Amino acid sequence: MTTQLQRARDGEITSAMERIAERETVDAEFVREQVADGQAVIPANVGHETLDPMIIGREFSTKVNANIGNSEETSDLDGELEKLHTAVHYGADTVMDLSTGANLDEIREANVEHSPVPVGTVPIYEAVKRAGSPEEITHELLLDVIEKQAEQGVDYMTIHAGVLMEHLPLTDGRKTGIVSRGGSIMAKWMEENGMQNPLYTKYEEICEIFREHDVTFSLGDGLRPGCIADASDEAQFAELDTLGELTRKAWDEGVQVMVEGPGHVPMDEVADNVERQQEVCDGAPFYVLGPLVTDIAPGYDHITSAIGATEAGRAGAAMLCYVTPKEHLGLPEREDVREGLAAYRIAAHAADVANGREGASDWDDALSEARYAFDWSEQFELALDPERAKAYHDKTLPGDNYKDARFCSMCGVEFCSMRIDQDAREGDEMASIADETDLEGSAAASVNRPPVGTHDSDAELHHHEGRPTVVGDDD
Ligand code: SF4
Repeated sequence: MTTQLQRARDGEITSAMERIAERETVDAEFVREQVADGQAVIPANVGHETLDPMIIGREFSTKVNANIGNSEETSDLDGELEKLHTAVHYGADTVMDLSTGANLDEIREANVEHSPVPVGTVPIYEAVKRAGSPEEITHELLLDVIEKQAEQGVDYMTIHAGVLMEHLPLTDGRKTGIVSRGGSIMAKWMEENGMQNPLYTKYEEICEIFREHDVTFSLGDGLRPGCIADASDEAQFAELDTLGELTRKAWDEGVQVMVEGPGHVPMDEVADNVERQQEVCDGAPFYVLGPLVTDIAPGYDHITSAIGATEAGRAGAAMLCYVTPKEHLGLPEREDVREGLAAYRIAAHAADVANGREGASDWDDALSEARYAFDWSEQFELALDPERAKAYHDKTLPGDNYKDARFCSMCGVEFCSMRIDQDAREGDEMASIADETDLEGSAAASVNRPPVGTHDSDAELHHHEGRPTVVGDDD
């Protein structure tokens, strides 16, 4: 028995499940049951030694993935490790190495070696690089790339096995055709070779490799909509039906599986999309990219997509793949990673609060209490991004004497409503304000607590209380 799924079915509570129970503040037996039923996954390649195990599932705190990786045009190993560090520092629960440029093996191995969070890849990218063009990829090469990446310790892989020949005509008439990189590569391969998708026909062999290393499937949505006009169309849902079939097949093979989702979806269709995936795929965790709820805002797509991601999380999506302000425009850099992660940590937390996740709003309450008490230092400490909160405050009122001032520069001393309210309460015997949140004793999962440790720039650490940091990487 290798996989967490097989061991869970066998009644075993693994050390990974114990650690997850601690991080999520739930019972370890509950973790085991959720994994055994395929309702949650623990992406944990048996060869990924620096991993701090985490879980992705509807019944657990909502997670966030950050995509990193190089392209032909930019980045190197040091730059990639800096992106990994930035992603973990700002709260990524998993990272995907989507490199398509030089030194793929070196970068992938370094990412796995240094990462305390699960690392995902899309092996078809390397297959294209090695073959020279999509249509030149052979079945043998494909399996060879997947096996090598599994041996390198990759925890989960996006496999676009749901794009079938018969689905391709359904994309005719779309405004933006096939926008998934993996989807477009597989479509080109099928058109040029006149054969069915090799990821589909070789699925059982892929399952064997995954089972041996405990790699989790992230079943790719190669036909996801690339604009809101194409959302929820026949092509998207035909592929989803195939993903449901592949989910059950992976479970039969003892392999963990989650399913990827769109893309670009108008707000009123987001919840329906999540509910449909949950039904078609028998509750397998849904991992959504955004979705962007409007197409009009290049440069701000971390915001357009975080709106959709919040709604998806509220409706039951288990992990949100971040989008940065550079989406559609260029390869993200350090500051873009920071912006994207902030937007998505907010989306995930807002979804957890809205879903009544136990203890989730304790963090909000603690921050509100610090705010009302004019305890500025505590407010910065509790902020999602303490560095930014402090920098913004200190831009106008930098002195230490302003750290307990009963105003800030937004309304000014005379018009500070909280000061006026407090003065009125003292004078008029108004009811006092509640101020009693105990974050130490909160039942919230670690991702639903302030970012203690995440913002410690000493990268020697494996795991602080709460969230992990990158191993051995200089800040
Ligand atoms: S001045 Fe305005 S923004 Fe600043 S603390 Fe007072 S009420 Fe809040």
